[in-house]
Amino acid sequence: MKPIEAYVKSIPDFPEPGIIFRDVTSVLQDADGLRLAVDLMQEKLAGIEFDLIVGPESRGFIFGVPIAYNLHKPFIPIRKKGKLPRETVSIQYDLEYGTAELEIHRDAIQKGQRVVIIDDLMATGGTNEAMISLIEGLGGIVVKTVFLMELAGLKGRDRLQGYDVDSVLIYP
Ligand code: IMP
Repeated sequence: MKPIEAYVKSIPDFPEPGIIFRDVTSVLQDADGLRLAVDLMQEKLAGIEFDLIVGPESRGFIFGVPIAYNLHKPFIPIRKKGKLPRETVSIQYDLEYGTAELEIHRDAIQKGQRVVIIDDLMATGGTNEAMISLIEGLGGIVVKTVFLMELAGLKGRDRLQGYDVDSVLIYP
């Protein structure tokens, strides 16, 4: 099997000039790439005690669910506003252009539960920061976030100081 980085296609000037887009779908469309990505992310949780996995729509679902299944933990989705059918709590946060709103079911996390966040990629860290606020607002304790990829140049870790953040692949 090839190393994980060999499955990631990098697309220059997408979605705009000067940006190198790291394409998660190129990993998923190869059976070995998909398995390796899930396995390497799951390995980052060795020795971590936790109660449940939270992942954001939509690529957090792709990696969060198989890891939750493998470790026999619940999976809690965080979704864009208006998609979850029961009572929710929500948070608005700033994107590069405009704002976004994320929601979680109010009954999904109990006070004191230990939570792992799984997502595909960290850019500015804004999405992760918003998810941490939602989880902590419900009384959850975020014990770790695992990303497949991290764009270190965008300094997402600076916004997440004090939290355990781990990435399988780190790009400058
Ligand atoms: P953040 O909130 O700035 O950390 O943004 C995280 C989200 O930005 C990811 O979940 C992706 O949807 C998106 N994103 C930003 N850059 C890339 C990239 O190079 N490849 C894939 N997704 C990206």
